[in-house]
Amino acid sequence: MECKVAKTAGFCGGVKKAFLMVQEEFKTKPENGRILIFGSLVHNENVMKIINGMGIVKIDSLNEVGSGDIVIITAHGAGRKVFEEIERRGATSFNATCPKVSMVQDCAKKYYEKGFEIIIFGNREHKEVRGINGWCENKARIIPDFKEVAALINEIRAKKIKKPILLISQTTQNIEKFERIKKMIHAAIKEAGGKIEIIDTICRATFVRQKEAFVIAKEMDAVIVIGGRSSSNTKQLWKIAKDQNPNTIWIEDPSEVKSDENKEFLRRAKSIGIISGASTSPDDINMVRKMIESSD
Ligand code: SF4
Repeated sequence: MECKVAKTAGFCGGVKKAFLMVQEEFKTKPENGRILIFGSLVHNENVMKIINGMGIVKIDSLNEVGSGDIVIITAHGAGRKVFEEIERRGATSFNATCPKVSMVQDCAKKYYEKGFEIIIFGNREHKEVRGINGWCENKARIIPDFKEVAALINEIRAKKIKKPILLISQTTQNIEKFERIKKMIHAAIKEAGGKIEIIDTICRATFVRQKEAFVIAKEMDAVIVIGGRSSSNTKQLWKIAKDQNPNTIWIEDPSEVKSDENKEFLRRAKSIGIISGASTSPDDINMVRKMIESSD
């Protein structure tokens, strides 16, 4: 059976950097205080098992932070108040935010301070989006879908939005959708005589990964997408691949390849493509590849 692993599969630069930073910094435990991580370093359970194995404790609320603790801020970043609250509690933050996400936070902050209305194309509940919003006093307007884009356009046409607009995107959003949204909002602003700045903040790594998913899904008989169920970028890849090739499955853990349903799926395919989200470890990808090759 032909098996092709996407060149882009595995950690993206930002996740790799965060993972290495944490592994390097916390090889040995500090004498006082605990090492905490605010949420998951990445949306991948297997990676989090490695982190937990290092004695790092995941917390979901800053109420759990005490004096002397070190709190790791994950690759998705966090709002300004999170850093302030950690300091107020006598703890120290260790910032593992991806530099590209930091750049988007800086844009939101800078334009907000200049009096712009900040519009973010993204998922309201996503940690990265909440973090970006936290740098503009949580005043950004978040548009997750075309329904909300339409509502925004109606307001622009009715001249209800007085401020100039900054339009940015969550770094892992679908590039084609953002292109359409950019055009729609830009046209409405032009018509209404308003001002808009658009900064394309979709990560290049996301863009390349999505393009490769599209090509592989077209080429191969079947596709396996590996990535966490709560990973936004994995979901985007899965949708792109599934649209091109209905024989696409999404697994979170390599062991899922062995399920009865998936074994049958593998048996029918003559060629299989493997793609992965940005927070899937190379070990998981290799394991899936080996399982497929040995199922010949
Ligand atoms: S996908 Fe891009 S922006 Fe997101 S963590 Fe990776 S490198 Fe950073």
